Parts: sequence; structure tokens; C-alpha cells
Amino acid sequence: MKLPNYLCGEWVEGAGPGEPLVDPVTGDELARISSQGVDLSAAFEFARSHGGPALRQLSYARRTDLLAKIGEVLSANRDEYFRISLLNLGATKADASFDVDGAIYTMKYYAKIGRALAEGKMFKEGALLPLSKTGVFAGQHFLVPTQGVAVFINAFNFPAWGFCEKAAPALLSGVPVLVKPASPTAWLAHKMVEDIVKADILPRGAVSLICGSARELLDHVREEDIVSFTGSADTAARVRSHANVLRRSVRVNIEADSINSAILGPDSTPGSDLFGLLVKEIVKEMTLKAGQKCTTIRRIFVPRQQLKALGEAVAAQLSSMKVGNARNPEVSVGPVVNKAQQAACLEGMKKLTAECKVVFGANESFPLADADPQKSAFVQPTLLACENGLAAKNVHNVEVFGPVATLVAYDNLEDLIVMTRRGRGSLVASVFSNDPSFLQQVVLGIGDLHGRIVAVDSSVGAQHTGHGNVVPSCLHGGPGRAGGGEELAGLRALLLYHRRFVVQGPVNTLNELSALGVDANLIYS
Ligand code: NAP
Repeated sequence: MKLPNYLCGEWVEGAGPGEPLVDPVTGDELARISSQGVDLSAAFEFARSHGGPALRQLSYARRTDLLAKIGEVLSANRDEYFRISLLNLGATKADASFDVDGAIYTMKYYAKIGRALAEGKMFKEGALLPLSKTGVFAGQHFLVPTQGVAVFINAFNFPAWGFCEKAAPALLSGVPVLVKPASPTAWLAHKMVEDIVKADILPRGAVSLICGSARELLDHVREEDIVSFTGSADTAARVRSHANVLRRSVRVNIEADSINSAILGPDSTPGSDLFGLLVKEIVKEMTLKAGQKCTTIRRIFVPRQQLKALGEAVAAQLSSMKVGNARNPEVSVGPVVNKAQQAACLEGMKKLTAECKVVFGANESFPLADADPQKSAFVQPTLLACENGLAAKNVHNVEVFGPVATLVAYDNLEDLIVMTRRGRGSLVASVFSNDPSFLQQVVLGIGDLHGRIVAVDSSVGAQHTGHGNVVPSCLHGGPGRAGGGEELAGLRALLLYHRRFVVQGPVNTLNELSALGVDANLIYS
């Protein structure tokens, strides 16, 4: 089976034998993809000339109706998405839910909050700015949807959520989307697009799909297009510095990799509620999606005197978890996505173990449930410990994109902040402490290098939303190494798909124009 591309409102098969999509547990080929020979230039043109205008004829409120219908269609096909997740990602039910239910929830969330924008077609930002002595001539800022295409280049680990969290705000903005899922796991995004197209919800050209490497994609972007990339920092650098992107100042949003941290405060000792909550969170983060989340905890900073106890508590839980084929209901940890990722994880682990002790795991021939180690792509959940985090380099720099985390001992607040900042820009850090002044010092010390900080104290307890969980109402993204991008944050996500401009003119004209706009304060509320 070769999965076709969806371009210019038609399904088009790519040329050649294509690349195989593989079951990471059995090694069986599931399908093939190819984007070879497809007319990308025509696809962009069609999206700009048909999809965009048809979407922008509608108001924000009418476009939320489209999102609501997409949400319904995706919900109706949820079981099939779980089946594909199991086959193509080896996903357990919890893994599949994180991606698929997260995708559906995000789509429905935008369908709900978009209603506040009513029948508007653009945003009016701020008050009239008088520019003449008598006040007849003034300035007014507006935000208008861009007339280009939103190009999504996505990572392999979130084929469903990665598509929906980007598509929902773009479509709500009135901007057509062209999604290029990562090749190894393109099937799930393909199936979602297929279901949306079949349900005939969107105007032709409002959604396009490319399955395959499509390395010439960025040659076709123009000034009014947007590139929203999620993936590794290396590929991000290539996308950002692409000659056509640079020459045309194409707007680029980058979500890249990240060495995220969890921090145990000095006040939290073994046996305390926060100590227990952190243990639970570390185990969840390491094992959910086999640690293949951009937000996963990679470093755990722990007061030196608690290092051993925390290591033992996490190791005890990891040792009771079955790793293997998720068709076996006892399995709670699945594989990484393919043999190449497995090799990359093992190589990264070697770099980390050069600076760390192994607390648990790091065994290349560990027991697997219902899977052949020769054919499958598993990595044993592995906990490491670093005694000298100030001298370590790899611990703060090497992202092992699998079920691997490192405990790092700290002696005082100053060292803790210095070491946390060595992630050079992260998506998220979580802090477990009941000491408000410690929380404040940490937030002030690391806030500028993080997109999100999760503070957990005893009053919150288990009610926190989770270190690795991205909620659509809050900002997702991070500075520096994490890519510098910003996604979600409710209606703020629409800013990426709008352009700000100012009209300077007669007050009457400005008032008439303003009547077409929704108050931009709604974006920030
Ligand atoms: P990747 O290898 O960087 O690939 C990401 C995407 O870029 C894929 O669709 C890939 O296509 C495409 N691509 C590669 N080279 C390209 C080029 N020259 N021009 C245009 N597109 C190109 O990343 P990955 O291995 O799929 O994903 C894992 C990484 O993503 C991890 O480092 C993780 O931390 C990061 N991630 C970050 C976030 C976030 O929100 N910050 C979320 C998820 C994952 P092909 O697959 O066809 O090569």
C-alpha cells in the first residue's frame, strides 16, 4: 500500500518505490510513502488561490464551526487512530491517548474559544492614535490573516497532536494548511487528513498533505507563507537558514529539542508528599511514549543528600514495569520509533554514562515481553546519576530521545540555577517544593530560559497538569535550544497567522475599518 499525497484538492501518488513505514515491534512493513514527482509549486498556488480565499470569506465564528466538525470526525475515528498508533509507533493505550486524545481535545478547544471572535474578519489592536493637531488624521493598528499557506513540518513523535495543535489556530485564522508529517510515522496524520477530506468539511485547498521527504518544500514558500517546524535542533537550523526562507523573510516558528529539568526543593525529603509526587512524575515522563516527548524530563536536580533515596525510589518503580509489545496488556512501556532512533539513543546513553553512574537500566539485552530484540526497537528505561553536574557537559547537552533521565546532585541554589541554565533554553522545568522563597528564586533564576515552569507544592498535590503535558490554553515553546518558537497559549496562537499593520488616515475611515475588526484584546484575555 502506497499512501497518496493530497494536493490541489486531489489524491496524488508519489513516484518510485517510496520509503517503507515499519512496525517498530515486529519490523514488518506497513505501508510506503513517496512525495517524488508531485507538483509542489501547483499545490502552494492552489492553496493560496482557492483554500485561503474560501476560508477567509467566512468569519472567525463560522470557521470555529469547521473546527467543531473536524473535532467530531476525529472523535468518530478515534479507535482507528489507536490501531494505527499501535502498528506504526508501537504505542500503548496511554501513549496513543496522549497523542490522539490530545489532538482531538486541542481541535475542540479551539472550536470552543474561537466563538468569542464572533463575525469578525480581522483584529483591531489598541486605540486610535491622534496624529494631527485637530485630530482629523490618526493611526490605528490592525492584525489581518496572512494570505499565504501555513506549512507544517512535523516531528515523528506526535503525528496526530502535531498536526492538530498547528492546524486548529491556522484554520481558525483563515489560513490554509499544508502538513508534512515526519516520514517514519506519517500514516496517522495521513489517516486524519483522509477522514477530514472524506467528511467534506473544508473548502478545497484548505488542507494539503505531503508524505515523504519533500526536501524541496522550502524552495516554494513566499513572503506571505508561514513555516511552523517541529523537530530536532539540527534540522531546525537547516530550516531557519534555508536560502529562500532568508531571502523572502518568511515567518518561521521553531519548536526544537530540549533538555528539560525537574527540581526537588531542599525542603522535600523522602517520605514527603512532594518527594512521592516527583517520583511518580519522573517514572511517567520516562516511560510514557518511551520518553519520546519534547517536554520529557531529561535532568532531575536533587539535593545531594537525597540523590540516593530518589534514585532508589524511581528504580523500584521502573523495575516493576514491563517493556515490550503493547498488544500484551501487561506492557506499559513501548518501543522507540525505529532502529535508527534506537541506535541514536544507545549512542547518546554512552555519552551520558561517561559522566554518570547507572542507577537502573542501560542494559542492551534486557528482557522484552513478546518482542524479538533483533527485529524490534526497544531501549531499556534507564536512570543515571551525576555527582558533579557543574563539571559535566553531555548531561546538559545530549538529548537522548528515549526513556532515559539523569539525576544531578546540587549543593546550593546558585549551583542549581547555573546547571539548569546549561540546558541553554528549554521547553519546561518543574519545581517540587513547599518553600515559596525557593520557588521564587528558581523562577527568577531560570524563567528567561524556559517556556513553561510548573510549580508543585502540597496545596496543589496531584492536581497539577503534569510536567510533560502541553495544555492548549498555555504557552508551548521555549527559547534558545528549544527553538525560540511560541505555540498555543489560547488565542495568542492566532498571532502567528496574522500580520500587524497600521493605517494612518482620516478618523472616519479608521472608524469604518475598525468596525470590520474584533477587539484584539480578546486574543490576550
Ligand atoms: P527531525 O529529524 O529534525 O525531523 C523533523 C521533520 O523535519 C520531519 O518531518 C523531517 O522529514 C523534516 N526534515 C528533515 N530535514 C529537512 C529539511 N532539510 N527540510 C525540510 N524538512 C526536513 O526530527 P524528528 O526525529 O522527527 O523528531 C524528534 C525531535 O523533535 C526531537 O529532538 C524532539 O525533541 C523534537 N520535538 C520537539 C517538539 C517541540 O514542540 N519542541 C515536539 C516534538 C518533537 P523526514 O521525516 O521526511 O526526514
